[in-house]
Amino acid sequence: MKGEREWDAFFSFASSVEAAPWQARLRRDVSLRGANWFRVGGRARGLFAPKTLGELMAFMQACDHFFGDKTKPLCVVGAGSNTLFRDGGYEGIVVRLPAHLKDDCGLSMATTLDTSVAGDTSVAGDTSVAGDASGAGDASGAGDVSGAGDASGAGDTSGAGDKSVAGGASDACDASGAGDASGACDVSDPSVVSRRDQGVYQIAPHRLWCGAGVLDRRVAEIARDCAIGGMAFLTGIPGTVGGGVCMNAGAHEGEFADILHAIEVVDDKGTHRVIEASTLDFSYRHTALPAKVIVVGAVLQGVAQDAASIAAQMARVQSARADAQPIRSRTGGSTFKNPSGKKAWQLIDAAGCRGMRRGDAEVSSMHCNFLINRGNAAAADIEALGEHVRTQVHAHSGIWLEWEIKRLGEFPPTHGQAQFVTTTP
Ligand SMILES: Cc1cc2nc3c(=O)[nH]c(=O)nc-3n(C[C@H](O)[C@H](O)[C@H](O)COP(=O)(O)OP(=O)(O)OC[C@H]3O[C@@H](n4cnc5c(N)ncnc54)[C@H](O)[C@@H]3O)c2cc1C
Repeated sequence: MKGEREWDAFFSFASSVEAAPWQARLRRDVSLRGANWFRVGGRARGLFAPKTLGELMAFMQACDHFFGDKTKPLCVVGAGSNTLFRDGGYEGIVVRLPAHLKDDCGLSMATTLDTSVAGDTSVAGDTSVAGDASGAGDASGAGDVSGAGDASGAGDTSGAGDKSVAGGASDACDASGAGDASGACDVSDPSVVSRRDQGVYQIAPHRLWCGAGVLDRRVAEIARDCAIGGMAFLTGIPGTVGGGVCMNAGAHEGEFADILHAIEVVDDKGTHRVIEASTLDFSYRHTALPAKVIVVGAVLQGVAQDAASIAAQMARVQSARADAQPIRSRTGGSTFKNPSGKKAWQLIDAAGCRGMRRGDAEVSSMHCNFLINRGNAAAADIEALGEHVRTQVHAHSGIWLEWEIKRLGEFPPTHGQAQFVTTTP
């Protein structure tokens, strides 16, 4: 769908849907710069930032009604730490989830898991496990496409870091390892399953339910506090749970595929369902999600481990990253996937691209599989520099690198004439 008139029709339809609970969450013509770590990109036709699962489902149903069988111009973004928005903007609506949808998928997951996924009814069947949805974390700031990482490297998303949303009295967390990793435990024992914090629920001794908008590093911290091992690697990934599921993000000998038990999604018809992780085809930095689904929650399964050793593991991950990666820069992390049996950074280095620049876009000298916006780079500079690196690597090694970073949106009208100029350091 292109053109002002068609979008007028869509927004007029949106405002005419009777008593639509989601109307207030839809904004027109929004800058995307704050929605990706590179801090680049044009504008989106709209941003939809729901506060509840019900709003998201109703919005998707309304879009289905309006667009019918046509491809729906929608995309979802998490922390934007693996995304580059192009300068011509996004010809559609960007969906951005808060850390915590207020009517809370945790509750629905708890009931749905009961019958359709886990079968461990002793945990999932009791909705008290999921905590109190009424006090669930508010997505403060979710209406703004902001919060993607800045030069400080914070990369916080809508409200995820806001301690005020933590689940007050029900924070007790069982570090004793009671129960077993299969998730079977006694839900009547409040010390086992009462953890609720910032969009994360401990639903079994070694199992967490996480909202898709929660930052990975927050999950790592909560897992540590709950003495749940196997999730320390999350401290090194600056994205959200939704982005991590989609990318099968990983590092330091762990990836989402290792810990994912099930996901909760809303599809483009507005239907909400649970998908078992065992049915997802994971590969390196890829998850075969069904087409057009938005992940709204994930159940992560860990193992018993004492909190002190998890903390030590997390510290090692953080220090290794600080030593090797420009984590305080405007970047998208690893630009290219490692080809089988090879390291992308070594190929880039061998091709002489380390430190190469195009305008304010630079191949990081610290880690040459990272591209950096030094300040005023356009998305086109970054993407063209990446393409130049691919060409150089191919010329040198015969290998075409594959982009890991997702590039979304349109090229600006002048893109075709842009001179391709790169400089070496
Ligand atoms: C400094 C730095 C270091 C990094 N280090 C690592 C690393 O060690 N390992 C690693 O794997 N990655 C790394 N990354 C890349 C990035 O952090 C991960 O890919 C992360 O999982 C992306 O999460 P996100 O929320 O930022 O996703 P986004 O960039 O917002 O989106 C990425 C993709 O996921 C999709 N998506 C996002 N949310 C949802 C959802 N709710 N439902 C469906 N699809 C969704 C988007 O549509 C997009 O296709 C690094 C990035 C940076 C900036």
